[in-house]
Formats: sequence, structure tokens, C-alpha cells
Amino acid sequence: MFFKFAFIRVIRQLANIRVKKPLPLCTFGIISPMFEYTLHSTQGRARAGTFNTPHGALETPVFAPVGTQATVKTLTPAQVKDVGASLVLSNTYHLYLRPGDELVRDFGGLHNFMQWDGPMLTDSGGFQVFSLSGTRKVDEEGVTFRSHIDGSKHRFTPEKSIAIQENLGADIIMAFDECADPNDEAYIVKAMERTHRWAVRSVEAQTRSDQALFGIVQGGVNPDLRLESAKFIASLGTPGIAIGGLSVGETKKQMHDVLDVVNPALPEDKPRYLMGVGTPEDLIEGVRRGVDIFDCVLPTRLARHHAAFSPEGRLNLKNATFKRDERPVDESCTCYTCQNFTRAYIRHLVVAKELLAGTLLSIHNLHALIHLVKDMRVAVLDGTFEEQVPAWLDRWAGNASKNR
Ligand SMILES: [Zn+2]
Repeated sequence: MFFKFAFIRVIRQLANIRVKKPLPLCTFGIISPMFEYTLHSTQGRARAGTFNTPHGALETPVFAPVGTQATVKTLTPAQVKDVGASLVLSNTYHLYLRPGDELVRDFGGLHNFMQWDGPMLTDSGGFQVFSLSGTRKVDEEGVTFRSHIDGSKHRFTPEKSIAIQENLGADIIMAFDECADPNDEAYIVKAMERTHRWAVRSVEAQTRSDQALFGIVQGGVNPDLRLESAKFIASLGTPGIAIGGLSVGETKKQMHDVLDVVNPALPEDKPRYLMGVGTPEDLIEGVRRGVDIFDCVLPTRLARHHAAFSPEGRLNLKNATFKRDERPVDESCTCYTCQNFTRAYIRHLVVAKELLAGTLLSIHNLHALIHLVKDMRVAVLDGTFEEQVPAWLDRWAGNASKNR
């Protein structure tokens, strides 16, 4: 116990926090077996592991579909499971505003409310709040913002974010962080330092022991700041570590450079979560650089805009060239959509504005990313990861932005 308090004191000094109240019996440096991460195999920096959660073990690397409003858009939980998803992410900001985190709590938490019985993750709300440019004001204690729904005024602090996430009840929750414009160097330093102080406050605010709280590494695209942030967040001893502030307009090379600096500075025995990434190429390059968990709205958002990942590049199923196309979206894909439907049928649904178009394309796009990551896991386990990377990159080239 003495060491625990001594450790907290050191962390507070590092984060330049003023002690205002007696410290709670928090869990600095102590990982519950409930959240044990087992590293099975590595190849280069690519990793295959298992992360235990109260709703089941996650086999990593893993790609998580996003269910912003406690639903993966256009899919039932059974369909989400059928495409191979094991982890689902939901958004604190949106659920706090609507229907309210206390209502979700009263319905047994997110798992029960939305009927997803597998592992879940919530973000801290920070990214969404900081995306509300012009309608939010940040200070040392937290952020004041206006709802995008009705303009009402709200305030998030690290303590508030954790309280909301405890009401929502996901298995993995996030420390409240400050996201900065990657091109504003002066702001990035301030935001990183504040993120560190807020990470300490987030850990102290946690009262539930059945949720894994991840600290978040910030620091823009500056390698020195990223390294400093990785070391600080790693020192908190949280059961996992997230890498935030990427996929926000920086170049691919900048993102890769950040991962090359951050991941080697993180502990081997904790999962690493790259937030909000990405495209098939991003997943390959991320796993290659030691990332274990990914999430992104891209596959379902593209589906609602009639687009599908394919080895030919990104397809736009609204295109007239598919009017009589008898092929599936991807002839080599084993998903429900590709096993049963032609491009011509899906194009018909798109043109007729039928909701099933979004469902079928979401199934395909999610299946593509989830199984790409599963394939990479198998390759790390059997030692063939590096030799398969060129073929994966070649197969998925053109899916970042190209539309046909
Ligand atoms: Zn498919």
C-alpha cells in the first residue's frame, strides 16, 4: 500500500497536479486478472494476443465496428456477430445527450440496452466535443460545449466523462483527453500536458473495477512529444493504452512515424488501441507497427454512401456500370452479401433508395476489415506475417479514397 501511494505521489508531481483532497484507493499500476493481456506471438512488431474482458476474451489484433448511437447503423446485433465482430464501440458524447447515460444505466447498461453481449468500448467524449469548433470552451477543469442537437449548454470534465462511462457500462473505457489540431504546434504541447493531468484525474475518478480504463497518448505529429506522452501514459499503469489524435488530417507517413515512436515505448503486456483508424491499408500498417485494437466508422459510413471495399479499388454501387453486373461485390469474399447477391441487385436497391442496400454493403465492408485483421492475426501466429504484407497491401490498394 505504501508503494501505491508513493507511486501516486510521483505521478501527481509528474503531471503537475495540485493535491486538493485525499486520494482515493485507485488502481494505479495494479491490473485486475479480469483484464489480463496475453501475448501469444510476435513477428517484427506485429503482435497476436488475447485481452480478457468481463464479456469475453478479445483475440487481438481486432477491428471494432462503431455503434455511435448504441447501434451499428443498419445492422442487428446478430448480424454484427455474424460478420465476425467481437468488439463494438459506442460514443459517450452522443449517448450522454441522447437518450442519457442514466437512462442507459437504468436499462442495465449498454450491453443490455442494445442487446450486444460481447465486449464493448466507449470513448471519453473528448474527440466529439473538441470537434465542435466554435461551440466549446476549454479550461483546466474541463470543457463547456453546446449540444449539436438543441444548442443546450453542457460541461465535461475528466470526472464527468468517467461517471458517464460508468453509467454506460462498457468493458473498456477511455480517459478524458484534449485533441488538438495536428498543425498547431504550440497548442499540441498544451493539449498533451493537459491530457496527462486529465488522465491522472480520470484514473482517480474511476469507481468501478469491472471496466478497463485506458490512458490516451497525444502529442500531435511531433515524435519527441509523442515519446514523452507514451512514457507518461505508460507510467500510469492502466490495463491498456490508446493512441489518439491520429487520422485527423496528417499524412500517412506522419501517422506511421508516430506509431514507430510510440509503440516501442509502450509495455509489451498491455493492448494498444489506435483510435479512429481506418482504411485497409491503415490496418495493415498499424498491425505491422504493433497496434492491437482498431475502430473506425469508415466501413459503415461508406456503405451508407453506396461504396464497397474491393480488390478492384473502392466501388460505388450507384454507378451505372453495375446495372447488369452479375458478379458479387468481391468474388473472393465469403460474406453473406457476396455469397448471395449481385452488384446489379445492390445497385437496384441503391437507386430505389431501399434500406437493404446499406445493410448489405455494411455486412460486406465490415466483413472485409474484420477478416483482414483476423487473417493478419493468423499470420503472426504462424510466422508468415511479414511475407504476406506486400500481397495484402497490393490487394487493398486503392481502397483509401478511389471511387469507381
Ligand atoms: Zn463480401
